[in-house]
Amino acid sequence: MSDLRDLYQDVILDHNRKPRNFRLLEDANRTAEGYNPLCGDQIRLYLHVEDGMIKDAAFQGKGCAISKASASMMTAGVIGKPLDEAESLFHRIHAMLTGEATSNIDAAGDGLGKLAVFAGVREFPSRIKCATLPWHTLHAALSETAKPVSTE
Ligand code: ZN
Repeated sequence: MSDLRDLYQDVILDHNRKPRNFRLLEDANRTAEGYNPLCGDQIRLYLHVEDGMIKDAAFQGKGCAISKASASMMTAGVIGKPLDEAESLFHRIHAMLTGEATSNIDAAGDGLGKLAVFAGVREFPSRIKCATLPWHTLHAALSETAKPVSTE
């Protein structure tokens, strides 16, 4: 467990310092906005969807290190994925972070690759919404929900 915590902190720091896909996506054809009032995190997500695939993803916004790192990893994780796979990733990450799936973090993170390190946020319950916000925003963009999403 302490290895996971170290890894978690390394990954958050790295992605916060050098967020991947932190830019405006000019040719986005799906966008969504997310807001986490608990922490003040705001995110605008851009997707370029073509032939049922996420060809490109990017985000802008402001927020804490965890929300930024999560958005960075989320966008990097869904580029090149079919829409249904991205949607199922959302459900799996959400289940892992909220503990619905299983109390065993290692099992919950099974098959999620690098994204599994986010299970580390479960040790900090007040920050879970920071980590799930980008994923809720992805879910909204995939569902083409018009209204901004809130973690509340
Ligand atoms: Zn936050």
